[in-house]
Amino acid sequence: MTRCYIGLGSNLADPAAQLRSALAHMEEIPQTQVLSCSGFYASAPIGPGEQPDYVNAVASVETSLAAEALLDALQAIEHLHGRERTLRWGARTLDLDILLFGDKTLGTARLTVPHPRMAERNFVLEPLAELAPDLCMPDGTPLQTLLARCPPNRLHRLK
Ligand code: ATP
Ligand code: CA
Ligand code: CA
Repeated sequence: MTRCYIGLGSNLADPAAQLRSALAHMEEIPQTQVLSCSGFYASAPIGPGEQPDYVNAVASVETSLAAEALLDALQAIEHLHGRERTLRWGARTLDLDILLFGDKTLGTARLTVPHPRMAERNFVLEPLAELAPDLCMPDGTPLQTLLARCPPNRLHRLK
């Protein structure tokens, strides 16, 4: 089994409900258990143009799937939630990113792990630190070091 961390995000159509529904669907992924989920965080959008705020969270899962099979399952859940890929970083009903897949470093056509932009995103690092404050990246860098270096962006934990 591999311990993975999945980043969840939404800024359309009741984002918190999208995340709750996504977690329910993630429970149904074969050979995979959802262990826990962070609190939900409201964050300022990073994409182009005017967009609603995001709701973000991080879930820890344990899986015996290969990384690309896990990505297939996550993309199927995005699709179920009406995710449309139009503008890069545009508004979306649901985004599920593989942040970490055990201590593996992957670089295939479809998958880069650790997620290449996680270190600059407090809406990823803060909820991840809630689940695993002592985590280290595959290269040995402590999560707390990334957090200390991360550029600030408006973020607050929702009830
Ligand atoms: P960002 O990657 O900056 O968070 P995004 O989530 O909006 O942007 P998407 O349009 O959701 O980007 O994904 C584009 C592609 O990224 C996917 O089709 C997928 O193949 C690829 N990808 C590469 N690495 C990962 C990863 N670690 N997790 C999820 N998708 C990934
Ligand atoms: Ca993303
Ligand atoms: Ca994505």
